[in-house]
Amino acid sequence: MHIDVLSLFPEMFTGVLNTSILKRAQERGAVTIAVTDFREYADNKHKNVDDYPFGGGAGMLLKPEPLFAAVEALKQASGKKSHVVLMSPQGAPYTHQKAVELGTHEHLILLCGHYEGFDERIREYLVDEEVSIGDYVLTGGELASMVVVDSVVRLLPEVIEHDSHDDDSFAHGLLEYPQYTRPADFNGMKVPDVLLSGHHLNIEKWRREQALIRTAMKRPDLLLNVELSDEEKQFIEP
Ligand code: SAM
Repeated sequence: MHIDVLSLFPEMFTGVLNTSILKRAQERGAVTIAVTDFREYADNKHKNVDDYPFGGGAGMLLKPEPLFAAVEALKQASGKKSHVVLMSPQGAPYTHQKAVELGTHEHLILLCGHYEGFDERIREYLVDEEVSIGDYVLTGGELASMVVVDSVVRLLPEVIEHDSHDDDSFAHGLLEYPQYTRPADFNGMKVPDVLLSGHHLNIEKWRREQALIRTAMKRPDLLLNVELSDEEKQFIEP
């Protein structure tokens, strides 16, 4: 998979892309990631990428020309089927499911806005979809695109052991069960006996129950999309 990010501030990505699992994923060849300053594609003398909104109003908008030119160039260079995603507070809320889905594209292009936002023609004609990382407004799309890159890449095959994210929150619609490590007794705070029992079936049953209880308490909305057995439904009913 190849991911291109278009941003006016590529320096923001240096630490994130060159650390830990994202770094290893690139070293292993699971993904290639490039961040391009789309100011390079501005065709005017001063390399302006923004301008005042027609009709007046506060702030500056990103002009269409540099972004259309940059996306076209990246599509041509990759030669793959590209999927263009706009980072936007007006997009569909970003979820685990969306991370899985974005990970199926061979070429992703993520557009980071800045200032007051975009000329509407970018939204209308250039992108395949808009995603929002939450109901709040960031100063730019850089942090949002890093969230997308991180969550997509960690799910790619060979990036981390499949087992280690199979039980993660959201992987099967539920929040993850509680986990403990040594010591088994920390200042009188004890690890549940079942986890020390070595009885795998009981551990599995306990974990499923805990994941259900936790999800019912913290995120009952998630349960609407999970298939539960009759026994499990009774288990979490108040
Ligand atoms: N005026 C815009 C609006 O109200 O919809 C907000 C513009 S915001 C200051 C600048 C850029 O940050 C946006 O174009 C977008 O790329 C990014 N951004 C801000 N909040 C975001 C969010 N919640 N999710 C994804 N991207 C976001």
